[in-house]
Amino acid sequence: MRYVDELRDPKLAHALSSRIRAATTRPWTIMEVCGGQTHTLARYGLEELLPEGITIVHGPGCPVCVTPAAVIDRAVAIACTAGVVLHTYGDMLRVPASHGDLLAARSRGADVRVVLSPLEAVEAARLDPSREHVFFSVGFETTAPAAAAAVELAEALGLERFSVLAAHVRVPPVLEVLLGDPRTRIDGLLAAGHVCTVMGTGEYAPIAARHRLPIVVTGFEPIDLLEGIARTIEQLEAGRSEVEIQYARAVRPEGSAGARGAIERVFEVADRPFRGLGEVPAGGLVLRDRFARFDATRRIAVEVASAEPDTRCRAGEVLRGLLRPLDCPELGKGCTPEHPLGAPMVSSEGACAAYHRHRARKELPR
Ligand code: SF4
Repeated sequence: MRYVDELRDPKLAHALSSRIRAATTRPWTIMEVCGGQTHTLARYGLEELLPEGITIVHGPGCPVCVTPAAVIDRAVAIACTAGVVLHTYGDMLRVPASHGDLLAARSRGADVRVVLSPLEAVEAARLDPSREHVFFSVGFETTAPAAAAAVELAEALGLERFSVLAAHVRVPPVLEVLLGDPRTRIDGLLAAGHVCTVMGTGEYAPIAARHRLPIVVTGFEPIDLLEGIARTIEQLEAGRSEVEIQYARAVRPEGSAGARGAIERVFEVADRPFRGLGEVPAGGLVLRDRFARFDATRRIAVEVASAEPDTRCRAGEVLRGLLRPLDCPELGKGCTPEHPLGAPMVSSEGACAAYHRHRARKELPR
């Protein structure tokens, strides 16, 4: 408890604020790429502790938000197939799709179940082999090891009617797309600590070198974020572009051998469309051919007819860091958590949901 308190200590926060102000001589724009970091920034009002000219923008750090409507449409169609039970994380139920979300499908009679782990879906498949059990698996590299473990467990148990609808995405390739976009101005990056806990930092050094910008692997508590911002600005002011690890209590440069091994055994890298960002080369993970019988897209044939997204939603600009959620004219008016126009208002990691929820309430004591 004391450890967590230290990471939210107002005195430390203000000391870091002073360090940032002392280091800053000109405007800089820093992007964070993690929904958890977005929520901490909004919840604790950390941007108010930064000097004028330091702008924090939010990238595609919410995996639910970057999942294309066509993928949700496929999940809905699979859930509505006779004899299917669809298991997924709670965040996915209300993500808008072309013809209604998974919650609406459930209200129409589809068997859609919320799980905390894919292993619950494996257990359901073991106990009820009369039905097809599909785990709809969404996330960055952080959730892929659990999905891989579920597939390997299903194989070891000899399950005949378990499969995964995999929509996993990878962070480094989408960073390459963003940094190559001439509309995007990013001087430094805060990388997501939990992704690097799994994958290590090896993929980030070439990005820092190629785009000449600092990347600081940062945690999720207020003190983590302020220290990550301080380190990024100190590098920028010194003209350095290195990968640093602020979240050293969890991240090793080589990552987790066990988690990376599970991903590599079960998945392979593939191109992947991101909602609002288009096709990202090498941006996703798909099941290897060896595990084809656990691939829901190959097991269950469905018709998917996707519609164009609501044109009022500017999630694509939010996910590229071109628009801050507070500057979207629909925030809190036409778009609320009860009536979302886009995924960033639905997901617990969505940037629009963070600013809608926390804009009137800052929790860091002054
Ligand atoms: S506030 Fe709503 S409409 Fe605006 S970008 Fe976010 S999700 Fe889309």
